[in-house]
Amino acid sequence: MSALGGVFAYIGLGANLGDPCTAVRQAIQVIAALPQISLTRRSSLYGSAPLDAGGDDYVNAVVEVQTPLSPHALLAALQTIENAAGRARPYRNAPRTLDLDILLYDQLELNDVDLVIPHPRMEQRAFVLRPLAEIASALVSAQQLQAVADQLVWVL
Ligand code: AMP
Repeated sequence: MSALGGVFAYIGLGANLGDPCTAVRQAIQVIAALPQISLTRRSSLYGSAPLDAGGDDYVNAVVEVQTPLSPHALLAALQTIENAAGRARPYRNAPRTLDLDILLYDQLELNDVDLVIPHPRMEQRAFVLRPLAEIASALVSAQQLQAVADQLVWVL
């Protein structure tokens, strides 16, 4: 049990530029080191083929955190981490080296302009559902996994 308390939230990580394994591993370490966040579970790293675009394969993972931060404060913390990783980007508007999404935040359903929870596309993405099921099997049904079974995702 964490001394911080707070709710459990699930964060999806993805990267496909530079050294994506290192980017995702480092991001998990940075999240774990945040003062207001306890990292309670982390999935394996997964590889996935790009869904809608060309480019290199992605590296994905999902972590469970416990935090007293509000959803928007959690998003702001994650965006700070994304921006720090993005400093390595070689040109303006280049794809980011790191994408961090709030997938779930306790039982919350939120529809703000800048924050939608549960993440609206998580159900369509095997690279989210597979690692989420690894660390929180009760949150992902067999039917949900079956619906994305045609997407190529592998454990690294
Ligand atoms: P993306 O470029 O796909 O990482 O999208 C980033 C934008 O999505 C940010 O401006 C966020 O405000 C917005 N957003 C909406 N819902 C979420 C969520 N659940 N997790 C992370 N970003 C979100």
